[in-house]
Amino acid sequence: MAEPANSRPDARAGGALAPKGVTPAPKGGAAIASLRNVSKAFANGIVALDRFDLDVRPGEFLSLLGPSGCGKSTALRLIAGLSAPSSGTIAWEGFDNRARGVGFVFQEPTLMPWATVFGNVYLPLRLAGVTQETARTPVMETLARVGLADFAAVYPRELSGGMKMRVSIARALVTQPKLLLMDEPFAALDEITRFKLNDDLLALKESLGKTVVFVTHSVFESVYLSNRIVVMTPRPGRVYAEIAVDAPSPRHGFRTSAEYAAFCRLASEALERAMAEGGTA
Ligand code: ADP
Repeated sequence: MAEPANSRPDARAGGALAPKGVTPAPKGGAAIASLRNVSKAFANGIVALDRFDLDVRPGEFLSLLGPSGCGKSTALRLIAGLSAPSSGTIAWEGFDNRARGVGFVFQEPTLMPWATVFGNVYLPLRLAGVTQETARTPVMETLARVGLADFAAVYPRELSGGMKMRVSIARALVTQPKLLLMDEPFAALDEITRFKLNDDLLALKESLGKTVVFVTHSVFESVYLSNRIVVMTPRPGRVYAEIAVDAPSPRHGFRTSAEYAAFCRLASEALERAMAEGGTA
């Protein structure tokens, strides 16, 4: 199996011995969100994150990859400004209003069953005081982008799991956020639906020029989607390694390529080492 061209054994690996073949990601522009030395302890004594450092670079698709319970969702909520760190700092660059600068997609679509697709996607604009009349164009345009232009009047119970997730993505995008945060959004979907949504998400990201931070515990999904993968240790979560996935975009044909298999092997090896060497879980 061919090594990816950028494989080097001299990787940075969060202070631990560098996993062979894991490369530091290339430097990008100024970060739009920076976490420095961030720790998060909950009231029950659980330390979810410990001295966690992360820069989110404009235009990248960044995945946080790690075992269940390692603090991925906690990190995402901190980036969203939904919770505060116990120590350390978080800085956002270029957001005039963090609430509208960040779109959040949860693992469950969390749609209002009593509202139509239109009503669900309109919700964030309604909360921001936008009238339904003014919201019609942005809502319909966003529905068209996720392939649901003909479903505006339909209720969630009439939709498949994949379509519900598309509504959830549209709801996150309708405020035109700079940063899209996604917490295992496709985990509950069947593989074929998941693959289709992977491709559609990448196309959306390209056409809208979004920056995405994506939480997953799937090596395969993280490699397929990402420009950069941050591998985390078991709880308390820390950055163990970074992998730059320097594969061409769009990624048609990537999933069955030898290059994809090689990146999956790199990520799997990094994850295995993170599990063996890092954290205390
Ligand atoms: P992941 O997303 O990687 O599965 P989480 O960030 O959800 O992990 O959780 C990390 C750890 O913090 C887990 O042990 C979880 O039980 C704990 N945790 C998460 N949220 C809370 C909370 N609000 N109160 C107490 N413990 C929490």
